[in-house]
Amino acid sequence: MSVSPQDLIRPEVLAMAGYHVPPAAGLVKLDAMENPYLLPPELRAALAERLAAVAINRYPAPSYTRLKQLVRETLGVPAGADVLLGNGSDELITMMSVATARPGATVVAPAPSFVMYDLSTRLAGSTYVPVPLAADLSLDLQAMLAAIERHRPAIVWLAYPNNPTGNCFERADVEAILAAAPGLVVLDEAYQPFALDSWMDALPRHDNLVVMRTVSKLGLAGIRIGYMAAAPRWIAEFDKVRPPYNVSVLDEAAAEFALEHLEVLLAQAARLREDRTSLAAALAAIPGVVVFPSRANFLLVRVGDSTAVAAGMRERGVLIKDVGRMHPLLAGCLRLTVGTPAENAAMLEALRGALAVPSGR
Ligand code: PMP
Repeated sequence: MSVSPQDLIRPEVLAMAGYHVPPAAGLVKLDAMENPYLLPPELRAALAERLAAVAINRYPAPSYTRLKQLVRETLGVPAGADVLLGNGSDELITMMSVATARPGATVVAPAPSFVMYDLSTRLAGSTYVPVPLAADLSLDLQAMLAAIERHRPAIVWLAYPNNPTGNCFERADVEAILAAAPGLVVLDEAYQPFALDSWMDALPRHDNLVVMRTVSKLGLAGIRIGYMAAAPRWIAEFDKVRPPYNVSVLDEAAAEFALEHLEVLLAQAARLREDRTSLAAALAAIPGVVVFPSRANFLLVRVGDSTAVAAGMRERGVLIKDVGRMHPLLAGCLRLTVGTPAENAAMLEALRGALAVPSGR
């Protein structure tokens, strides 16, 4: 007897497209907000030694004591808050979505925002309520407060800075949401090293606040480590949902090493912030390109026919993200990761070529 996926798989999964990651071999890769810089050679050698000493025959120690302590110290987690580690912050999003998925549960987030909030909510069986941003990509506070009042969401997700728009929402708007939300408000600070602004200090003031960070954009996207900080009573519940040994011993050791040398990664982030400024100016000088202000390591630009321009750039060897179909507010937009100066120059050249603007203009 043959059985088909239609017979077994949940309809919402059948209807899903999944998280598509395009192949990047041979291309200048500026589509995924990665840090383009490796650790310097002497640190890579020291890391190799550190990893060689790891007992990979053993399961990870479930407490991850040293890594959590380093997270507390380096990220300034306030006393009284606890820390939970995830296999990337993607897994933390999954854990919070699963733990709150009671029958009828809803989740609110601005739109457009990070797609995994939506995907994780639907996979967990809750209802996702997207609230469009204002035309200037700021929070539509009245619409957010109305959705919170109406849906009483278990979680409000706020990426700070937001992906893919690159802006930080007004702090007063976030405060208003924290005050109005009957459930958790998660401030996702994946791009914090490029914004130099944080909600970590607000944890003692708000029992419903969760702050999430990751090492991915700092230069360690290949190891999968994210962390969240919140009041211990929330962390205790989410920890029950965490798969045992969710962080591998190699990832654990590499993250410890990275946090011990955080100043190197922060210097790379500072470099990227500077280059973001010059890249934004160069982009704005191209006829037909509108650049949105960014506090992240990427720039949102409006170019017209984003699909054709993205294809034209790919033909010229540069991979960026076409977000033009993600949401009406992003019509005609591309998301461009800030790379090395050489990568940025290649990207500008490919963009001019795709737009048929003479080079150097
Ligand atoms: N949050 C936001 C806002 C993101 O943009 C991303 C990655 N694109 C993530 C979380 C996921 O990061 P991680 O690599 O830690 O899973």
